[in-house]
Parts: sequence; C-alpha cells; structure tokens
Amino acid sequence: MEAMENDERGYWGGTTEEQRNKMRGKKPRSRVPATCGTESAYRRHKAKKEEPCDKCRRAYNDLARQRMAHKRARDASGRR
Ligand SMILES: [Zn+2]
Repeated sequence: MEAMENDERGYWGGTTEEQRNKMRGKKPRSRVPATCGTESAYRRHKAKKEEPCDKCRRAYNDLARQRMAHKRARDASGRR
C-alpha cells in the first residue's frame, strides 16, 4: 500500500500524526494508564486531584533527587 509510506513520515496533508489521530477520533498514545511507580503515574494522580500513592511518590522523589543532583553537577561544571 502506498499510503503507508506517507504515514511513516508523520505528515499527511500538512497535519501531524497527532492531529490525524485526533481527526480519526483516536487518542495519540497511552491508552494504557501509566503504571504506578512512574513519574507519569504520579502526574496522573495529580491531574485527577488525587494524593499520589506511595509508589508514585517515591518514584517521583527519586527522580526529583536525580534531577537535582544532575543540575548541581551541571552547575558546578559550568562555573568558571
Ligand atoms: Zn500511583
């Protein structure tokens, strides 16, 4: 099928794949809710105005700590 080739490029008549999916009434991605213990799951809790569960909170805290460490390392190396 030749249409498939166009499809793979992600553009189709000037629309992005996401827009196309919307036009077809599909959700772009993630039909499966994020599993608890990931940052997206944490955000999902927040989005639903829920209290993030332990697993999510821990995952999020870990990530935040990692990011802080990362940022600190970058700041330190960037300093002259
Ligand atoms: Zn959770």
